[in-house]
Amino acid sequence: MSGISPERILELSVRHHSDAEVFGFFGQSWRPDAACIDKDQEIFFPAKGGSAKEAKKICALCKVAEQCLEYALDEDRDGIWASTSRDDRRKIRRFIGAGKKALKAVNE
Ligand code: SF4
Repeated sequence: MSGISPERILELSVRHHSDAEVFGFFGQSWRPDAACIDKDQEIFFPAKGGSAKEAKKICALCKVAEQCLEYALDEDRDGIWASTSRDDRRKIRRFIGAGKKALKAVNE
């Protein structure tokens, strides 16, 4: 567990999350272990057409990427989460949806 104080986490998270999400942020026990917690959060929000390479490099080393992806898949969030863009996550959701339909068909 990181030695970062809750106040510092809040300060950092405000840049990565909307105000509403900040309240949910404290409910995520994995967030203090995130590799991005002390990084410039701007790199996780590249401008349209900008590079997400730097963010993805950090995500690749993150030990809570799985939890992060699950969290990001729950809602249509902006930015890079667990090396995925918003479009990537939409594709993953469609893939999961198709898989669920196929499974249901097999079990009927
Ligand atoms: S996977 Fe990436 S965005 Fe998610 S918590 Fe880790 S470093 Fe941050």
